[in-house]
Amino acid sequence: MSVLGAGHSTQGVCNEATALGPAEAEALGKEEGERLGALRQMWRYRSWDVPQIPAEAPQTQKAITKSGLQHLAPPPPALGAPCSGDPERQIRSIVDWSESATYGEHIWFETNVSGDFCYVGEQYCVAKMLQKSVPRRKCAACKIVVHTPCIEQLEKINFRCKPSFRESGSRNVREPTFVRHHWVHRRRQDGKCRHCGKGFQQKFTFHSKEIVAISCSWCKQAYHSKVSCFMLQQIEEPCSLGVHAAVVIPPTWILRARRPQNTLKASKKKKRASFKRKSSKKGPEEGRWRPFIIRPTPSPLMKPLLVFVNPKSGGNQGAKIIQSFLWYLNPRQVFDLSQGGPREALEMYRKVHNLRILACGGDGTVGWILSTLDQLRLKPPPPVAILPLGTGNDLARTLNWGGGYTDEPVSKILSHVEEGNVVQLDRWDLRVEPNPEEGPEERDEGATDRLPLDVFNNYFSLGFDAHVTLEFHESREANPEKFNSRFRNKMFYAGTAFSDFLMGSSKDLAKHIRVVCDGTDLTPKIQDLKPQCIVFLNIPRYCAGTMPWGHPGEHHDFEPQRHDDGYLEVIGFTMTSLAALQVGGHGERLTQCREVVLTTSKAIPVQVDGEPCKLVASRIRITLRNQATMVQKAKRRSATPLHSDQQQVPEQLRIQVSRVSMHDYEALHYDKEQLKEASVPLGTVVVPGDSDLELCRVHIERLQQEPEGAGAESPTCQKLSPKWCFLDATTASRFYRIDRAQEHLNYVTEIAQDEIYILDPELLGASARPDLPTPTSPLPTSPCSPTPRSLPGDAAPPKGEELVEAAKRNDFCKLQELHRAGGDLMHRDDQSRTLLHHAVSTGSKEVVRYLLDHAPQEILDAVEENGETCLHQAAALGQRTICHYIVEAGASLMKTDQQGDTPRQRAEKAQDTELAAYLENRQHYQMIQREDQETAV
Ligand SMILES: [Zn+2]
Ligand SMILES: [Zn+2]
Ligand SMILES: [Zn+2]
Ligand SMILES: [Zn+2]
Repeated sequence: MSVLGAGHSTQGVCNEATALGPAEAEALGKEEGERLGALRQMWRYRSWDVPQIPAEAPQTQKAITKSGLQHLAPPPPALGAPCSGDPERQIRSIVDWSESATYGEHIWFETNVSGDFCYVGEQYCVAKMLQKSVPRRKCAACKIVVHTPCIEQLEKINFRCKPSFRESGSRNVREPTFVRHHWVHRRRQDGKCRHCGKGFQQKFTFHSKEIVAISCSWCKQAYHSKVSCFMLQQIEEPCSLGVHAAVVIPPTWILRARRPQNTLKASKKKKRASFKRKSSKKGPEEGRWRPFIIRPTPSPLMKPLLVFVNPKSGGNQGAKIIQSFLWYLNPRQVFDLSQGGPREALEMYRKVHNLRILACGGDGTVGWILSTLDQLRLKPPPPVAILPLGTGNDLARTLNWGGGYTDEPVSKILSHVEEGNVVQLDRWDLRVEPNPEEGPEERDEGATDRLPLDVFNNYFSLGFDAHVTLEFHESREANPEKFNSRFRNKMFYAGTAFSDFLMGSSKDLAKHIRVVCDGTDLTPKIQDLKPQCIVFLNIPRYCAGTMPWGHPGEHHDFEPQRHDDGYLEVIGFTMTSLAALQVGGHGERLTQCREVVLTTSKAIPVQVDGEPCKLVASRIRITLRNQATMVQKAKRRSATPLHSDQQQVPEQLRIQVSRVSMHDYEALHYDKEQLKEASVPLGTVVVPGDSDLELCRVHIERLQQEPEGAGAESPTCQKLSPKWCFLDATTASRFYRIDRAQEHLNYVTEIAQDEIYILDPELLGASARPDLPTPTSPLPTSPCSPTPRSLPGDAAPPKGEELVEAAKRNDFCKLQELHRAGGDLMHRDDQSRTLLHHAVSTGSKEVVRYLLDHAPQEILDAVEENGETCLHQAAALGQRTICHYIVEAGASLMKTDQQGDTPRQRAEKAQDTELAAYLENRQHYQMIQREDQETAV
């Protein structure tokens, strides 16, 4: 019998608010009945204690008093804010930070989980009578599933999400400073009941309607849904926030502020003035009013975390991982970078002691966050950990976070972030000025006098590699679907590497540069070497994992390479050493230095952390800027097996190795037992008891070389694919892959007990080959859809000038009419101005909108005679809405006009700082998106 659902079989599901009626209380016995009574009393009191209960809310009150247990508190709706029942309120899939945020609001994502259950219960489900399948949504924060049209019905059962903040409405706000559990009924539940220790026994009954468990969406404690396991008093117990409590930001820290009311303003101002002197140690409150404020309760044991996710990174891996973070953490500590930069969040949480940051995305995302931290000058700066999404990720590799994300459970990642060591990372400033000795040469086409970034964390390079990247970016703009990072690497290492076209440009690189490092002129050395490219490297990794300085121990004449020593490594590459790089070779080590002055005498391709440009003859000075504080993933301290703490690590381990196919892995990795059964033995290895996986790999690969006389048709004989990886079979509720770049961080005893499981993606599965989902292709950009044009007879299509006239006169109807009659929206006047240029100069939003919807994509970045795109013009005119339209339609924010200004700089010149800030933000976003395109292989 379900505790909370007792006696409500018709309702199917209920929640803590409506579930406990007087009858159940009696059934629970006198003592508990009394408790309940006391609780009722308490909550009734609470409900009256809260001031602004609106007059029209008697129902709510009734529900509260009736339930007696509405521990989610009756939220006084924000003043003037729509109440949560507002039908116009959208179904949100992001956290609402606005003034009108609803208390306990769920965060909905589409779902295709099996079954047709709906958390509101049969009584309130409006979908079940529709006799057809209705889409459902799942709340990422508490994991309930309801039909989309039933979301409103949650009001009726009064089921709110775990509350992510508290109200600061009343003066007498002695709210509990502890968090309460957020109990939710579950039809499926992993793990064991915390009371009786037994499992939840629904393994083979996916479609059971029965509620098997009650679990808390904060601490994840789970109990059988019956009186003997789930005690009533647990409803009011404080919640520990679970195993990740050290990183979870408790909702009690986050207060919704009330906007100061106009009527009170005057008197408050006075008050504040007199307060100022007293409370000045608190520092002046930043001028801007924010709907949420953070009041941390510092604790030396806590390492509160902010998570920033680039949702599109790594073929949308980011979008999925956001949902997991919402479940494990407070939704208000998880930020989607496509909804705005990290700045606001960092400002809001700046006073939180021991703060840590987790950047989820590529190296570009990390760089963005580090730059924002620089600007905000937080003291001490919060250390930044990385969850690398996509591929590449040299910085993430350097700090042991690996080269990419596969399927490590988020809970594991949180532990690593918490346990990781704080280290320093040098950051380097790049200052560029025109080469004073070179006259203003006739401007090389496409060359610029500015770098795409003026700080780097990874590397600055010039010559061949930058040229390839530049070509790659340009080709991709013309033909995006063909160009991905794999293609780029191919181009880099092989094919194009020997094309005259590219060779030509960098073969005499040495003739056009002067390099002075810490006062020593390296130019003669470079002229001897004749490198195709020169790299100034801060970290050991470059170009998706290669090690151009060579492996530690190889370079006897130099100090070991470190990312925190204030030195850069300067490396030259000839074509031969470039080709060798990919197979473990290295470049020519030139020097290690603290300062570089680099002078170029012609336009040369350069790149900064992967962002290329062609830079006019310049003088570039590289100096140490500062150090960023980072989190480095730690190697586990001991090789002690998890499950036998007291035992000594045996000197030698004899372990059976078993292979799992990708097909079985995908189908079964949530079910350890079945997956173990599906695995195929490969052989036995004998390794030292304290080996890490790197060593273990060597032993496993050796198995292949020892021919055993096994039957040739046995799957054991299928050769081990070079792409195989280890599976962690022990430390989480399911199997997961271990990134190859992290094998040195794991002891074999950590991931295996008596058997090592490895995943071989090329092993034929029991039933079929892996059906890997093909990456979804980007939505087709809607080209000028030639809507059926009603060409009257064989009348000639309207002339371009007519369209220009219509755009200039802001005559929307005429323009539309001309377009329908076959007019060319791509017409350009004699100064190369497009219709969009004209529409922008007249400021006509309607025409701009129409053109964006109907003209081909090229119109966005078309340049008129004077070098300006329509975005330059809109930015210079301070047309915010139009800028927004154009940017969201996909226009480039990186284009420079004849003065070398980007649209952002034009907005700055026009002194529209807000517009400039918006454009800057989108510019960063465009850069991280570009990163995605590269990783969406
Ligand atoms: Zn429903
Ligand atoms: Zn929820
Ligand atoms: Zn809890
Ligand atoms: Zn139990």
